[in-house]
Amino acid sequence: MKSTYLEINLSNLKHNYNHIRSFLNPETKFLAVVKANGYGNGSREVSKCLSESGVDYFGVAYVREGVELRNQGIKKPILVFHPQLENLQELINYNLEPSIYSLNFFNNFLSILKSNNKKLYPIQINFNTGLNRLGFSEKHYNEVINKLNKNNSLVKLKGVYSHLASSDDLGEDHFNMSQITKFEKITGLIKPIFPNAIFHLLNTSGVMNYKNYQFDMVRAGISLYGYSNDNEIDKFLKPVLTLKTIISQIHKIKKGDSVGYNRSLIAKKNMSIATIPLGHSYGITRIYGNGKGYVYVKGKKAFVVGNVCMDMLMLDVSAIECKEGDEVVVVGENASAEALANSAGTISYELLTGLSDRITRRVIVG
Ligand SMILES: *Cc1c(COP(=O)(O)O)cnc(C)c1O
Repeated sequence: MKSTYLEINLSNLKHNYNHIRSFLNPETKFLAVVKANGYGNGSREVSKCLSESGVDYFGVAYVREGVELRNQGIKKPILVFHPQLENLQELINYNLEPSIYSLNFFNNFLSILKSNNKKLYPIQINFNTGLNRLGFSEKHYNEVINKLNKNNSLVKLKGVYSHLASSDDLGEDHFNMSQITKFEKITGLIKPIFPNAIFHLLNTSGVMNYKNYQFDMVRAGISLYGYSNDNEIDKFLKPVLTLKTIISQIHKIKKGDSVGYNRSLIAKKNMSIATIPLGHSYGITRIYGNGKGYVYVKGKKAFVVGNVCMDMLMLDVSAIECKEGDEVVVVGENASAEALANSAGTISYELLTGLSDRITRRVIVG
């Protein structure tokens, strides 16, 4: 029996990919988002499997993540959502597609291309339609289009995209539709001049909730890994990542005894407390402490008690018959990362991407 480990199930990944594809028009391209180490699932294994499964594009946040994919043998186009000025040379060396989001960035990138004697370098333009994070706003539309025209021997416009702020929230349908309308307007301006550019807007929840607006491509991340921000859809997805560990020790404590640092639990009754080798340095942060988070022991919920420590945490197993060495399931099938994250006020994205590489990984090839 191993102690703390992560299992990555690639047949579940393929299943999720095929399931998301079933929402798409046959001609819609698929960009797989593998930033943050493939949402904590391991970008190497995930990207290789998805590349073989037929995705068209990869998306990462930073240049370094794109370089890793290239070093792992990924040949497909890679879009970098948030490249930084300081690594544009590296971006070019590894043939990554920058997302151009500001005039300053655009100008700097054009000069790097000139000094490298590059021609028709593939780029994508990010338009801000309401998220107010990155991208060109309406007042710059014309300037961007002029720049693209003027530099059409230096750069090749591969894609044009925007990102929805609340695609998972149908209560924000009105706002979502206003973003979609703005993006349609951008499409109307640019498509006549650059008919081969790929237009894309939807992330996972966009695909699920706004599938009439696929444009030419969608960008899915979280659903590939088994979660969708929607319990009904989650039923058809399979978690790729399983996090398991074992019970190291069990203490029988008496009413009035305390547990953990700062004595944050004072027992109101006699209790059984199990310690497991998993703590905040593993990515199970202190927000899960003091009765918020839970894991499964013998199929039953065991709540985290006391403050989460760096390398371990304690569970209330008073109502569960268990012993030292027994298996503990933290995330996986019937142990939803989304539900665990929600119990502590966060989301599956944060829980999954926060899992540290202190945890041993085992890949199951399906
Ligand atoms: C992270 C990200 C995505 C993926 O979103 P999911 O909700 O995980 O599908 C898509 N597009 C952009 C620009 C992103 O930053």
